[in-house]
Amino acid sequence: MTIPNHHKVIILGSGPAGLTAAVYTARASLGPVLIHGPLPGGQLTTTTDVENFPGFPEGIMGPDLMLNMEKQAVRFGTQVVVDIVTKADLNKRPYKLETQSGKEFTCDTLIVSTGATAKLIGLPKEKELMGYGVSTCATCDGAFFKNQIICVTGGGDSACEEANFLSRFGSKVYLIHRRDTLRASKIMQERVFNNPKITVLWNKVISDIEGDKQAGVKALMLKDTKTGTEEKLECAALFVAIGHTPNSDLFKGSLKMDENGYLVTAHNSTKTNIDGVFACGDVQDHTYRQAITAAGTGCMAAIEAERWLEATGGH
Ligand code: NAP
Repeated sequence: MTIPNHHKVIILGSGPAGLTAAVYTARASLGPVLIHGPLPGGQLTTTTDVENFPGFPEGIMGPDLMLNMEKQAVRFGTQVVVDIVTKADLNKRPYKLETQSGKEFTCDTLIVSTGATAKLIGLPKEKELMGYGVSTCATCDGAFFKNQIICVTGGGDSACEEANFLSRFGSKVYLIHRRDTLRASKIMQERVFNNPKITVLWNKVISDIEGDKQAGVKALMLKDTKTGTEEKLECAALFVAIGHTPNSDLFKGSLKMDENGYLVTAHNSTKTNIDGVFACGDVQDHTYRQAITAAGTGCMAAIEAERWLEATGGH
């Protein structure tokens, strides 16, 4: 089937936010087109069991959850295009998108749900064991490591928050930081220092991760940044909390963003600074970052897009 060039709604990104926006706009007969890159599904595809998405009492694998969401969106008429949007012209309506493969799309409303990418240390084993003991989300995966030794790396608010949260589950939590002071806010630092289960390992970088997909993480190799000495630390999990990068580069100069690149939306809304352009999910949320909250804002974006189209006729 050839996809006509102009659409009422185009959705960028196929995580829970984009796919929920697709389900809602498709069911509202708006014939959405959802464009995603070669690796669909967003951050949930880098995790294994998801136990906190309501409706799955036994849990569900992250990739399966995303596949189900896509099937649901397609069932109601969402057209999925696999391509990478390289340019977005939001200066005038209809908004124009250009893709890597040379296609052009125009749309009356655009829903931006391009997500955020967790920063990684850059070790080969880190990627290999992602979802098998290595994680970037304590809320998602902490409960799998009850009464085990858990490591967290990072020195910001995220790392401190994750270390505190993980201390509910782990027998011991090590917070591994590359410097001798934390970047986190005072209150978060104090919580870490006052938590008897957490020990901060200063001036340490992780040089290797031991383990495999069957056994999970077994140990970390830590290198002291001052002395250069290496030591082995046995543990069952590594939570990497060194920050996220919102995938908003495409909109630099057009959509309003904060100093970290997160798209700014109106209070209690997914409206951006441009009429008819809505942002949902992790590209505009650095606070909650959950699949369910992303799905919630995806639903909001769909309803707001529908109402905007109704009120303006798309013009
Ligand atoms: P962040 O503040 O940028 O901190 C990142 C941390 O990771 C830094 O301590 C940094 O070390 C370390 N790091 C970066 N790259 C590294 C690498 N390659 N290897 C080892 N360590 C590395 O990020 P964040 O903690 O995610 O916070 C982002 C924003 O969200 C902040 O504004 C934060 O205040 C906010 N936030 C707030 C809350 C809250 O208030 N509850 C919770 C989470 C996040 P250096 O210190 O040496 O640079």
